[in-house]
Amino acid sequence: MATAAEATAMRRAIALSAAGIPSTSPNPPVGCVVLAQDGSAAGEGYHVRKGGPHAEAHALAAAGRLARGGTAVVSLEPCNHAGRTPACRQALIDAGIARVVIAVLDPTSRGEGGAARLRQAGLDVEAGVLAAEARVVLGPWLDSLERQRPATTWAYVIGPAGIDAASEAMDDVRALTLGCDAVLHPDGSVREAQPGSHGAGTLTLTGLPPAPDPRDLTRMLYQGGVRRLLLLAHPAAAEPFTAAGLIDRVYAYLPDRDPSRSPGNGEQTAVTPPRFTITGVKRLEGYVRIEAVPMPEICS
Ligand SMILES: [Zn+2]
Repeated sequence: MATAAEATAMRRAIALSAAGIPSTSPNPPVGCVVLAQDGSAAGEGYHVRKGGPHAEAHALAAAGRLARGGTAVVSLEPCNHAGRTPACRQALIDAGIARVVIAVLDPTSRGEGGAARLRQAGLDVEAGVLAAEARVVLGPWLDSLERQRPATTWAYVIGPAGIDAASEAMDDVRALTLGCDAVLHPDGSVREAQPGSHGAGTLTLTGLPPAPDPRDLTRMLYQGGVRRLLLLAHPAAAEPFTAAGLIDRVYAYLPDRDPSRSPGNGEQTAVTPPRFTITGVKRLEGYVRIEAVPMPEICS
């Protein structure tokens, strides 16, 4: 069972991991805290982008010799494969770490990943610690992996003349793009949300082809490294995505209006797509923002 100090460290690791959103894609955002043998925090770190040091490497480097006999607290199972960087499980072993506390097991490891190898090397390993909290950060990455497409958000404005694509000129939309790898623009182009943030050559982006099947586009974007996609699209462009079940969340911006009004003739009054359910609301200057997600599918 994790100690109170380990739980505190895990929440710190989870919070740190979020600073890797979205630049780590296609890698997951991960945070790590190394506790010295006496339980005090000795080092911390998070993964920034593919090809760079993983969270464990940053935390071990910061902890230095204090890592020996200590505990590594990490939000995702340490990796077991040496790619552009050495395997984290080996770095933890080499640093003399005695215990590893993990929130979420890496579904790609299939039980043969870092945790198994760490146990074989004699380290004490505990997994599943604050997993639900770690999933707040890792959720879109995990969902993306499972669905083989990016976690996708559609943002739109509900104007008197109907639904319109939300614009990056809106402060809140600009803030949304900070959490996305790529943005599908109303002209059909797909561009990195923060140019250069993933490192050169990490993402391969494909624009919207004529008469596209949105499933093909999202699959291609997933293969191109995109794990979080923002649609700034008109309803006609977004409808094939909603029809194919490819939208995971919508943000609908409803401008402040007269408190007593009759909708215009034929005015679109729906705030969410069909079969979406409201999960949140945020007051903004001049708008309310409605957040909605697809209703869970009911088996009949
Ligand atoms: Zn790693």
